[in-house]
Amino acid sequence: MNHPKTPRVSLGQRKTRQRDEISEVIRSAQGPLTVQEIYERTQQSVPGLGIATVYRTLNLLQEAEQIQTVILPTGETRYEMSGLGHHHHFHCRSCNEVYDLDDCPVTVQTGAAVGEGFVVETHELTLYGLCPECIEAA
Ligand SMILES: [Zn+2]
Ligand SMILES: [Zn+2]
Repeated sequence: MNHPKTPRVSLGQRKTRQRDEISEVIRSAQGPLTVQEIYERTQQSVPGLGIATVYRTLNLLQEAEQIQTVILPTGETRYEMSGLGHHHHFHCRSCNEVYDLDDCPVTVQTGAAVGEGFVVETHELTLYGLCPECIEAA
């Protein structure tokens, strides 16, 4: 029996390449990306990659726990690598980019009591303003 091995292998390689390129785009970004941004950035390395494939690949990477979603207070969904540790996001209101911030400006400690007997376990924070590039351009 002659199995059509070659097309199957190259299809698998193509899928692996798409997955690698998409995770590389997410890894090298300065903050979490929208699907549209991921789609636009993969066009340079994988021309002709469709947005449906980007969505499908994002679901696969999320199932494999390599990436995770970030849902901003605006309701916008973005994607970032898993396991980044405690960090926050800065949303530039001029260029609309979202940046990772390593330093945490929140002073309330985990386990601290706030208000009328509430015990803090975690917090989320999104800061808004202007990024260095937009300040320079202004
Ligand atoms: Zn900006
Ligand atoms: Zn924090």
